[in-house]
Amino acid sequence: MTLRTVFFVMLGLLMPSLAQAETKQPNIVFIFSDDHAYQAISAYGDSKKLIETPNIDRIAKEGMRFDRCVVPNSICGPSRATILTGKYSHANGFFNNNNSRFDSTQVTFPKLMQAAGYQTAVIGKWHLVSEPVGFDYWQILPGQGAYYNPPMNDNGKQVKHEGYVTDIISDLSIDWLKKRDKKKPFVLMSQHKAPHREWSPALRHLGHDKDRVYPEPETLFDDYKNRGLAVRDQDMTLEKTFSQLDAKLTVPGSLNAEQRKVWNEYYEPRNEAFRKANPTGKDLIRWRYNRYMHDYLGCIKAVDEAVGKLLKYLDDEGLAENTLVIYSADQGFYLGEHGWFDKRWVFEESLRTPMVARWPGVTKPGSVNGDITSIVDFAQTFLDAANIPAPEGMQGRSLMPLLKGQTPSDWRKSFYYHYYEYPQPHHVRPHYAVVTNRHKLIHFYTPDVDYWELYDREKDPQELRNAFDDPENAAVVVELKKELTRLQKELKVPNPIPEEAYGRSAPMNQGKKK
Ligand code: CA
Repeated sequence: MTLRTVFFVMLGLLMPSLAQAETKQPNIVFIFSDDHAYQAISAYGDSKKLIETPNIDRIAKEGMRFDRCVVPNSICGPSRATILTGKYSHANGFFNNNNSRFDSTQVTFPKLMQAAGYQTAVIGKWHLVSEPVGFDYWQILPGQGAYYNPPMNDNGKQVKHEGYVTDIISDLSIDWLKKRDKKKPFVLMSQHKAPHREWSPALRHLGHDKDRVYPEPETLFDDYKNRGLAVRDQDMTLEKTFSQLDAKLTVPGSLNAEQRKVWNEYYEPRNEAFRKANPTGKDLIRWRYNRYMHDYLGCIKAVDEAVGKLLKYLDDEGLAENTLVIYSADQGFYLGEHGWFDKRWVFEESLRTPMVARWPGVTKPGSVNGDITSIVDFAQTFLDAANIPAPEGMQGRSLMPLLKGQTPSDWRKSFYYHYYEYPQPHHVRPHYAVVTNRHKLIHFYTPDVDYWELYDREKDPQELRNAFDDPENAAVVVELKKELTRLQKELKVPNPIPEEAYGRSAPMNQGKKK
């Protein structure tokens, strides 16, 4: 018996609830938001103190914070398809938000859990085009959904709600929990639209930051030197891409007359001052950055409140003990780093996504995990937590040992990434990459560009310098290319990639050799 085993046996004796929790099938509450950057969660030790998120932080304090949870394809629909199937985009067929449609005949974790006696529900943002299958109850936003007074689809029936989308999703989630069959375990996927573009806060949060001037990211005025064409040639900057609606210089159409009045009372005087000052150049970018932060963080205020309401419900109903609660988002997001908003890149801010998990008696409170984990692991984790065997073909790995504080010695040390959607929107060129804790080896491939980049996060944490051609990296490049090939083979990445993966109306017109 190793010392480690002795330790856990003793821990087991001291914590009888550990054994109990494992014998009873747990409930699962999966709270999921859209485009929520880890930089905007106080539990992630945000040095800029952008926002306080006490309720999301509570999950971390009472459970585990995952510091390197990454996504396989940093964009909304594909991430959702990955979570349901436990598979990469090339294996579940949902590559992009332009022409992909989720094949709902596939095996998904909700279907398997429903078949095993779980009650299942998905409420909020869905974004997979086809209707949800494998859920006892679903009420979803059509497409991206609206922030104010959103129409929704309630199990096939069109309904319209009055109010703010995050509050509505939160209320519907708790209503479903109240009405559930209390004899059965449940899976609830409570999925927020916020803080997706155009970042429209609840009206009660419009004054939330008292006109604060936000600290700027060091790379707000990135000049993109020392990197290839793809980074320079994107369309996602505060300087060029930020729209009138993004800036709240036009009024969202979904507000009713009364709400519009409140909205105008907040924005109009500030917009008037902006028009009068008429800033240009860096001053204009700074104004946009501050407006962006006000709105984006304002959205997160309501998401955090929604998390608090769900946690309170679990407390009040005595459900907290036997429920695995996860808060995560479909990918990371740029909060002005590199002058950007949006996601898509394998670079850190969009590759990494927040993930905190609480499971009393299983996960040690206040623990932190730094292993490479992914949203592709969620399906197998939920099945494992419920003692349901995962089917062949899922491509992640159960996080259960990690949640128990016991990372297996053969846990992944590298991760495969592949982004497809191009050229619209945002003109981010398709790329695939192998990611380790230190390096990223990236291949950008389109007819006009075909080149590799290497980033060394130890020497260059902000990923500002392509070190692919540095002679001292020659051996690292060889090793990473080998690892990339191994991962592509293991994950059965097709070669060539099917043309429809890119979501274009015209073919990409190239060899498409990986
Ligand atoms: Ca998203």
